[in-house]
Amino acid sequence: MKPVKRGGGWAAIWYTLRMARRVGWRQLWNAMRAKNTCKTCALGMGGQAGGMRNEAGHWPEVCKKSFQAMVADMQHGLRPEFFARFSIEELKALSPRELEWCGRLTAPLYAGPKDRHYRVIDWEQALDRIVRQLRESLPDQMFFYASGRSSNEAGFLLQLFARLYGTNFVNNCSYYCHQSSGVGLTDALGSGTATVTLDDVEGADLFFLIGGNPASNHPRLMRTLMNIRRRDGHVIVVNPVKEVGLVNFSVPSDLWSLLFGSKIASLYVQPHIGGDIALLTGLAKAILAREAQDRAFIEQATEGFDAFAEHVRATSWEAIEKNSGVARATIEEMANYYVAARNVIFGWTMGITHHEHGVANVHAIVNTALLRGMVGKPRAGLLPIRGHSNVQGVGSMGVAPNLKQAIFDNLEKVLGIRLPTAPGLDTMGCIRAAADGKVRAAFCLGGNLFGSNPDARFAERALGNLDFIAYLNTTLNTSHAWGRARETLILPVLARDEEPQKTTQESMFNFVRLSDGGPARLSGPRSEVAIIAEVARRYFDSRRISEALDLDWTKLQDHCAIRDLIARIIPGFEAIRDLDQNGKEFQIGGRTFHQPRFNTPNGKARFHVTALPPLCGEPNQLRLMTVRSEGQFNTVVYEEEDIYRGQERRDVILLNPEDIRRLGLKVDQRVRVTSAAGEMSNILVRPFDIKQGNALMYYPEANVLVPAVVDPRSKTPAFKSVLVTVS
Ligand code: SF4
Repeated sequence: MKPVKRGGGWAAIWYTLRMARRVGWRQLWNAMRAKNTCKTCALGMGGQAGGMRNEAGHWPEVCKKSFQAMVADMQHGLRPEFFARFSIEELKALSPRELEWCGRLTAPLYAGPKDRHYRVIDWEQALDRIVRQLRESLPDQMFFYASGRSSNEAGFLLQLFARLYGTNFVNNCSYYCHQSSGVGLTDALGSGTATVTLDDVEGADLFFLIGGNPASNHPRLMRTLMNIRRRDGHVIVVNPVKEVGLVNFSVPSDLWSLLFGSKIASLYVQPHIGGDIALLTGLAKAILAREAQDRAFIEQATEGFDAFAEHVRATSWEAIEKNSGVARATIEEMANYYVAARNVIFGWTMGITHHEHGVANVHAIVNTALLRGMVGKPRAGLLPIRGHSNVQGVGSMGVAPNLKQAIFDNLEKVLGIRLPTAPGLDTMGCIRAAADGKVRAAFCLGGNLFGSNPDARFAERALGNLDFIAYLNTTLNTSHAWGRARETLILPVLARDEEPQKTTQESMFNFVRLSDGGPARLSGPRSEVAIIAEVARRYFDSRRISEALDLDWTKLQDHCAIRDLIARIIPGFEAIRDLDQNGKEFQIGGRTFHQPRFNTPNGKARFHVTALPPLCGEPNQLRLMTVRSEGQFNTVVYEEEDIYRGQERRDVILLNPEDIRRLGLKVDQRVRVTSAAGEMSNILVRPFDIKQGNALMYYPEANVLVPAVVDPRSKTPAFKSVLVTVS
C-alpha cells in the first residue's frame, strides 16, 4: 500500500463521503451539527456553539476521527440471534475492528462460568445481579473504572457512589495515558492540566510537538499548526518516527491547503525511543551556553534553577548525543529556533508519558519552558494533548483513587457524610489486586479495560480471576471477549448525542461544554447516569441506609441536580450550576496561567533535576513503541489500514531499513517478536523511516509484548519502550 504524500486532504474527504453514503447524508449532517461535544478527542469541538465549531469559534472544524465515532454510533442494533450464533470463543477470534462494527449493544448480556455464549437478560435481572454482588462483596473487594468518554455527570455520580459504598478503588483511563502529565505538571506548577487556551496556541510563534502524531489522533490541531507556519512561526517535531502528516498536512477546510498542502515541521528531530530527557537536557545546555535563559523570570517566578543548571552543565555532550541519538548540531539548531521565538508552546502526548520515566519526561519539558519564561504568560505554555473527549473531566470529577483535599472536604461538608480514608488503588493496582484475588468484582463505565492493559495475557488472567465484572458500553470490544470474569454482565448505554438530558465535558484546554444530547437511535440502551443512580438506589435501599445518607438517588438521575452538587463540591466548576439557564460554557478557573504565579505553596514554579535514563537494549534488541494507526482512536479500531504509514494491515513491525539489513531480515518476511512479557508470531517486517535501533507496532494487539511495568509515581505503563528481539 503506497503511503499518502501528506496527511488529511482528499483522502479524509472521500472517507467522509463514503461514511455519509453508509448512514445517510442528512442523518450524518444533522448528527454532526447538533450541539454536542465531539465524541472523540479532547481538543474540543461542538457544544452550545453548535457542532463542528472549536473554542476559537472557528467553523467548520471537524475531522475523520469525529465522523468515525459518529458513524459507529449510528450502526444497527445487535439482535439476540447474534449472540446465539457467535460463541464467546468465536468473539475472541474477531479483531478489535470487527467487534466494533458488529453493531450497537441494545440489551443487557450475561455470561456465567458455564456459558459458552452471552445470553440476553432483562434490565431487572441485570441490575439485581449488580446489587447482589455489591452486597456480597466488601468495599475493598470492588473497584470502579471509568473511561474518558463518559460525561462529567456520570463520572461524578460514579465516584460518589463508590465512596459511599466505602471504597477508594476508583480510577479512570488516564492512568494508562496522561497521568504522568498530571503528576509532572503538579510537581512543577501545582496544577496538572494545560496552562494555555486554544487562543494561546493560535498566537504562538513556535510549537514544540513532542512524542505524538496529532495528524492522526487530533487532526484539527493541524490547522492551528498550519496557521503558526503561515504567520512565519515554526513547528519543531520530536518523534523517532517520520510521520507524513507532521511533515505536510492538507487541511480539508482550507482550499489552498487542500490543493497544495501545508508544511508543518520546520525541523523534524528523530531521537531514540526514551531519549527525550537527554535531548531536552542538550537543548537546555545550548541555551545556558548562550546565556539565553530568562534570568528575570527565573529569579522572580521559579525555584530549583541552580541545581538544575549545575546538572545540565555537568552532563557531557557525549552522553547527550549517545543517549538521545541526536547530533549536537541538530540540538544547536533547535536552540536557534527556541532563542529566536517570543511565544512558545510545548505540546506532547504518549510518546512522553508511556515510559517508566514518564513523569521525569514531563519535568524535562517544563524545565525547558521555564528556562526561557515560556509559562505564565499569554501565547506561551504547556499543553498535554489529551486523548478521550472527557478524560480530563472524569478526573476533575474525582474519578481517581485519591481525592484532592478540597473535593474531599466539600463532599463531607455539603453532603454531611464520612468518606473512606483508606488508600485508593490506580488502574494497574486494581488489575494486580484482581490477579492476587484481593478484589473480587469490578464496575467499568465505558472503555475497554482489557484492551488498554499492558501484558494482555496477565490482564486476561487477572480479570478472569474476578467473580464478577460489569461493563457499560455502546459497542462490543475485546474486553467482552478476553476480559471476562466468572460472571460477566454487559449493559448497553446511550451515546452522548442520544442522552435524554444535557451533559457536560471538559476539553484539554480546561473548557467546559454543554452537550444537548438527542433522541435515542435504538430502544434498549440506557443513560450511564440512570444506570449508576438506579444501582445506587437499589443497593442503599436494600441495606436500608438511604435515609441515613439523606441522598435521594432517584433525584440524582436529574443531571441538573448533579450539576448543582458539582458546582458546590468541585473547585473551578461553580459556573456549571447555571449552565442550563444561561448556556454559558466556561473556562475552569485557576488552571490557565497568563501570569508568572503558579498553584504551588509559594506561587513559584519548580525546576527538577532529571537524570538521563539509561539507553536500554543489546545490539540484537530493538526498543519497541506501540502506537495507534490513522484508522483507530485509542483501543477502538475503525479501519484495518493505516493510510498515513502505508500499511494495509496491522500484524506488522516497522523497522529502519538499516536494522532490517543488520538483523539479516527481509521485507515482508514473517518473524517472531519476543519480549519479557510475551511473543507474537507471523509478524510481517516492513521498512519505515524510524530511528535506527527502534521499532513500531500497533496497539492494542502488541500489548501482548508490553510488560506490566509502570512509572512508579504516575502508575502509567511503559507502552512506548519495550525491549524486543525479532527472529
Ligand atoms: S480534532 Fe478531536 S475534537 Fe476535533 S473533530 Fe477531530 S476528534 Fe473531534
